[in-house]
Amino acid sequence: MPELPEVEVARLGISPHITHKTVRSVEVRNPSLRWPVEPKLAKILHNALITHTSRRGKYLLVHCLCHDGASGVLMIHLGMSGSLRIASLDAAPQKHDHIDWVFDDCVLRYHDPRRFGSVHWHDVRDGDYLQHPRLIQLGIEPFDALFTGAHLLARCRTRKMSIKQGLLSGDMVVGVGNIYACEVLFRCKIHPETACADLTRAQCEQLAVQIKHLLQEAIAQGGSTLKDFVNSDGASGYFQMHYNVYGRTGAPCHACAAPIMRMVQGQRATFFCPVCQPASKAIHA
Ligand SMILES: [Zn+2]
Repeated sequence: MPELPEVEVARLGISPHITHKTVRSVEVRNPSLRWPVEPKLAKILHNALITHTSRRGKYLLVHCLCHDGASGVLMIHLGMSGSLRIASLDAAPQKHDHIDWVFDDCVLRYHDPRRFGSVHWHDVRDGDYLQHPRLIQLGIEPFDALFTGAHLLARCRTRKMSIKQGLLSGDMVVGVGNIYACEVLFRCKIHPETACADLTRAQCEQLAVQIKHLLQEAIAQGGSTLKDFVNSDGASGYFQMHYNVYGRTGAPCHACAAPIMRMVQGQRATFFCPVCQPASKAIHA
């Protein structure tokens, strides 16, 4: 599943090919994504200029100036298996290539075998796009200057749930999915079952710093795949970091050689080192 770094890398991959260009046509082959694609999308975007791209959480945002002078934002979510790539004008669409945005010199193509992704159109005459129902509920961005240890501490103080689940809930910070939650807790030597309310100020400070580092490292690593967005087979945008704990059940911890353990929290697999990340009760004992 694409996480925040993959979405940011996808944005960096497609952006140079579509920014300041005009959409000549849109072809929606299958509008049945997680939510139905706006039926008038082709009409709305005919001769629209792409002004810039941005991202909010795992939504890739394509800002458009329409031919009638209105402006709006395409909100693209990659779901479980979605990807974007730049194809040449003569490249025939393949299976699961659901939407094409056709420019003078290339095609932006949305591919999604499982169709859990979505493409929303938001007309800014209907209000600020950040107030869109899909975006307004999102927590703070990890790279926002306001995302600090103090912010995390304030959000954790009243919560009894585990920090692993707190990070995944998306309202403390967006973009920390299952992989990065496991990895960042290992880096901070915090047991995944530690209650949010039991975290110290120092642990919250460290978590905030390490979340920023980890996501930045992942985006930098994905930078090596940017060329794969052009004329590729649709598998672009997925990359694997070198993980310390994620998916390494039974393998030796890189720090202490103890076998990495797996457990299930909230129906999601958690991977951790029982030695490097001792349970908080053991710390108090
Ligand atoms: Zn260890």
